[in-house]
Amino acid sequence: MSLRFGPTTLAIPGPSIVPERVLRAMHRASPNIYEGELVDMMDGLTADLKRVARTAHEVAIYIGNGHAAWEAALSNVFSPGDKALVLVTGRFALGWADMAKAMGVDVELMDFGTAAPVDPQQVEDRLRADTAGELKAVLTVHTDTASSVRNDIPAIRAAMDQAGHSGLLMVDCIASLACEPFEMDAWGVDVMVAGCQKGLMTPAGVSFTFHGPKAAEAAKTAECRTSYWNWDPRTDPDLFYQRFAGTAPTHHLYGLREALTMLLEEEGLEACWARHQHFAETLWAATDHWAEGQALACNIRDRAHRSIAVTTLRIEGCAASEVRAWCEAAAGLTLGIGLGLDAAGTPPSDGIFRIGHMGHLSAHNFLGTIATVDAALKALEVPHGEGAVAAATMEIARRAAA
Ligand SMILES: *Cc1c(COP(=O)(O)O)cnc(C)c1O
Repeated sequence: MSLRFGPTTLAIPGPSIVPERVLRAMHRASPNIYEGELVDMMDGLTADLKRVARTAHEVAIYIGNGHAAWEAALSNVFSPGDKALVLVTGRFALGWADMAKAMGVDVELMDFGTAAPVDPQQVEDRLRADTAGELKAVLTVHTDTASSVRNDIPAIRAAMDQAGHSGLLMVDCIASLACEPFEMDAWGVDVMVAGCQKGLMTPAGVSFTFHGPKAAEAAKTAECRTSYWNWDPRTDPDLFYQRFAGTAPTHHLYGLREALTMLLEEEGLEACWARHQHFAETLWAATDHWAEGQALACNIRDRAHRSIAVTTLRIEGCAASEVRAWCEAAAGLTLGIGLGLDAAGTPPSDGIFRIGHMGHLSAHNFLGTIATVDAALKALEVPHGEGAVAAATMEIARRAAA
């Protein structure tokens, strides 16, 4: 029989669980959009977004999802015919690259496969060869949500500096912001994009570009720039509506305000990063046991290169969709689907699922997720080693303190 008729849990890599408090903050009548609370809230909101990104520079807010922030960033930086180097470690940099191509950018892909991070040495070598400085920017993803690899952004910056290259470093932090340590200014990132529905715990609907002075300079001559995506009025508006090129996303702003208060004032950003590290390592203690059955494995072997916001698991001998279906229908747990990691030219396989561990997650909630996956493996008779749940509870016992 189904045992799902209680609180259900979403363990997918975005959207993440929305806290009740965020939902309640959004549940209100539309506010005055000319003056008062909403307008007065904006300076604090943008200051807090910059605290999360660890930048002293600019943030623009867009009414849209992560794809909107991708287009916004591209539009403000490029002119048709400009060249960009895109570093691919899964699925998401390819999506950003496709969008750039459609805008007339001349895209060069450097592919590191679907189970490894960017190799900074190869980036350095390629940039050294660009003696004419034709590459305007390097685009990369911090955490690739499909492969669950985390790229070493400071090492990519160092590779650019070693090569003496003056291109912009543009980073997609849609999956990683407010989950994984990220330091925009200290790491020399020129443009960063993020959304609100992952680490920031708010229903999908607003996204962000952050940019520093070098990107602001590039924007002055960017011919892909349109008035809607232009980040200047959004960062420095004369009138409130210019922040959003129209009506503000009123309710999302209230939700986001509540989420930022929870994140920055109550938990603390560094504590939040540490919590994500603890949960990721708790899950990996369990996956080490599951893997003993030879049917299940983390896509990224080396822990040092794994995201702490999402884990991609490969499964053999049982369809990943069956595991997901069991968790959902029998136990009220939604897991993430596998995403685009099949080699080009091969038929889509059903051998991947993902566990999102981003955002509003407590130890009891996450132990429930791990134990439920363990139950699914048993119910579906997927070969797996015993002791995964005990290992996870031991990790929590060791890591959590009252
Ligand atoms: C989720 C995600 C996106 C896409 O965001 P949408 O809101 O679905 O448009 C892009 N990049 C990364 C790394 C993501 O995790």
